[in-house]
Amino acid sequence: MKVVIVGGGWSGCAASIAARKQGAEVILLERTDMLLGTGLVGGIMRNNGRHTATEEMIAMGGGEIFAEIDDNSLHRRIEFPGHRHANLYNVATMEPRVKRLLLDRGIEIHLEARFEDVEQDGARIKAVIVKKGDGKVRFEGDVFIDTTGTAGPTANCTKYGNGCVMCILRCPSFGGRASVAAKAGVQEMIGRKGGHIGAMSGACKLFKESLSTEIRDMLNKTGVAVVPLAKEKHAAEKLATKACQQYNLPEFAENIVLLDTGHAKLMAAYYPLDVLRSVPGFENARYEDPYVGGRGNSIRYVGMAPRDDALKVNGIENLFCAGEKAGLLVGHTEAIVTGVLAGYNAVRAIKREKPLILPDTLAIGDAISHVRTQMQTEEGLGYKYTFSGSVYFERMKQKGLYSIDTKEIAARVDRAGLTGIFSRS
Ligand SMILES: Cc1cc2nc3c(=O)[nH]c(=O)nc-3n(C[C@H](O)[C@H](O)[C@H](O)COP(=O)(O)OP(=O)(O)OC[C@H]3O[C@@H](n4cnc5c(N)ncnc54)[C@H](O)[C@@H]3O)c2cc1C
Repeated sequence: MKVVIVGGGWSGCAASIAARKQGAEVILLERTDMLLGTGLVGGIMRNNGRHTATEEMIAMGGGEIFAEIDDNSLHRRIEFPGHRHANLYNVATMEPRVKRLLLDRGIEIHLEARFEDVEQDGARIKAVIVKKGDGKVRFEGDVFIDTTGTAGPTANCTKYGNGCVMCILRCPSFGGRASVAAKAGVQEMIGRKGGHIGAMSGACKLFKESLSTEIRDMLNKTGVAVVPLAKEKHAAEKLATKACQQYNLPEFAENIVLLDTGHAKLMAAYYPLDVLRSVPGFENARYEDPYVGGRGNSIRYVGMAPRDDALKVNGIENLFCAGEKAGLLVGHTEAIVTGVLAGYNAVRAIKREKPLILPDTLAIGDAISHVRTQMQTEEGLGYKYTFSGSVYFERMKQKGLYSIDTKEIAARVDRAGLTGIFSRS
């Protein structure tokens, strides 16, 4: 049984472990020199309903990555505007830990291996063609998983954003994102709202060392710094087009909200450097990601695969997807939980077993099916969905799915007959 996973972000990493646990040989292909994709610059976990989804996945036996992240958290159970009980992982040290976890599990990782094309036999993919060094390598598999995300490439950031801002994905150096589903002939879906195509990523990082001692101390001690802005510097107009609608709150326009993820995570899509430096405490501020965070941020959600609730891509017999590729799902937690399901179902498909569809009595199952149905409507394509806020967190609360009670969540998983399901082969 061979599963080939293209894209080493959080969803691809989670899919790799889940497929390996089911006994498959797993090959993970990543175009850059590091795993984690946009997770290299994120860090916020367990905020609001993400806590529930995390505990559901742990109860279902798919919690390895969450354990690694929890263990590498700089701050735990912090609060910031609109968000409760968040953990912040250390973005500087997360990637090597996850890489080791995957290698210890026997997953074959190929870095600087950029997927370029597919070889097909009708509706089945036989192999993927990858550029590695100066040559091309062909990877055959029984089942493939597309976890290439939706960020970039440069052409999209130029067309729908403010140009390449030199983000962590480093398209000019490693080549841009390329989608397996699209190369296999699948018509992808595009997130849009009004005249806007895609959405701009909603956070930057500043070197903590470039901030005043007072701000730095506050971040190190509490994990959070909320610095009020003078009225003329409010940034309300930027909030509407952000990928992270859970931060589309007045507090994020009226203040500079910083979180300590190793660097100072600035909760704004971008902020002109001269304006930022005019705020007391930020006189020497310098961007760490994106390097041109004074001008813009990466564009995402251009290119999602139509799929069913088992996360199989429509129209291709042996292709699954997860993370942002599986829809307008924002977040590491969202990428990890869909990754686990895709990896698990990929192996079931090889064994010709019925795929697992998670029930809507669980937040994860409900989110996967809700996002799919919402994306079939024009209005639904205008939202982003996350357990941590905005429309989907509201739905979680209305349906009684939000809980921070670990025992209650475990009992819910048990009632669904799914305790330890991802650990059983
Ligand atoms: C600046 C920023 C800050 C964020 N902060 C947070 C946060 O604090 N908390 C949170 O929960 N979420 C955050 N997010 C959102 C979150 O990072 C994503 O929604 C989630 O991690 C997406 O994971 P993914 O695996 O679907 O895709 P990605 O992270 O985009 O990973 C896709 C991977 O596929 C690779 N790839 C693409 N094309 C190819 C190819 N042709 N061949 C081989 N590999 C390829 C890419 O290089 C990349 O590594 C943030 C996002 C950004 C951009």
